[in-house]
Amino acid sequence: MEEKISLLEKEAEEEIKKVKAEKELEEARVRYLGRKSTINQLFSQLPKLEKEKRAYIGRRLNLLKEKIERLIKEKKLQFEKKEEEIDFTVISPCLHVGRKHLLTQVIEEICQIFKNLGFQIIEGNEIEDEWHNFSALNIPLEHPSRDVFDTFYLDLPPQEGGKFLLRSHTSPSQIRVMEKFSPPLAVISPGRVYRPDNPDASHSFMFHQIEGFCVDKEIDFSHLKGVLFYFAQSFFSPQVKLRFRPHYFPFTEPSAEVDISCIICQGKGCSVCKGKGWLEVLGCGMIHPKVLKNCGINPKKFSGFAFGMGVERIAMLKYRIADIRIFFENDVRFLEQF
Ligand SMILES: [Zn+2]
Repeated sequence: MEEKISLLEKEAEEEIKKVKAEKELEEARVRYLGRKSTINQLFSQLPKLEKEKRAYIGRRLNLLKEKIERLIKEKKLQFEKKEEEIDFTVISPCLHVGRKHLLTQVIEEICQIFKNLGFQIIEGNEIEDEWHNFSALNIPLEHPSRDVFDTFYLDLPPQEGGKFLLRSHTSPSQIRVMEKFSPPLAVISPGRVYRPDNPDASHSFMFHQIEGFCVDKEIDFSHLKGVLFYFAQSFFSPQVKLRFRPHYFPFTEPSAEVDISCIICQGKGCSVCKGKGWLEVLGCGMIHPKVLKNCGINPKKFSGFAFGMGVERIAMLKYRIADIRIFFENDVRFLEQF
């Protein structure tokens, strides 16, 4: 009988220690102290024992019962304390909820519009080489954009692709994708670009661009126009008009700059459009056959269009922001407006 009591004590102690929920604790209480518990059975056997032994065993059983009661009480207190620690009803005095930066929101919105048209999003590299940033894009060696005043070169030993640099536009993503995959391709590529410009209201040494392009059989300028109309009307307003002005880029032929009718004065002329009624939003054109060839795509079989836009400029137009620097100052008063 003494042995049984010792075993029961050990078992109860271990079990109560392991209990993790109040329900389990109640079950343990019933098992060890309830009417049908082993302790009660042992108590009922007491009258059968010799007088001296009866007093001794009785004392031991009472002590064990008290001990189990104490252990259960302690555990219960632990549970109650835990509940007090997490009070879900207390109102936080100051809750700062984070949000996406306006530029991230604009990039996501633009990418979603092109995704709806079946474009795929592929992000390029911020560190590029001369081949991907210039040569493959048909930018000649003597072109001023290759100058150290227009590109950040990195102090790294040159490799096959020439010197390393921080990409000055997102067009190298176009090259990377075309080198790796064959047409049909419809890709949109957002990201940071870098140019050694002195910061002012409209310049920053780091800003964001979105590059888009499409390569397949029989792609022509009308496809480009259709895609850009869809974009401008989805992003700015369904009433917006587009104007294509002939332009020159080394990597597209023919090339154009695209204006939208001023979203502030609807084309009547205001201070934002400087009285012209039009706002320049992006550059575009048909991918130059040399560029396709540089990526191993046969220009006799395939053709494509490409376009690129500055995210900050577009965000500044849509949200009427006058100074590009405010995007990067992390001023909560600005960030909280969007
Ligand atoms: Zn205007």
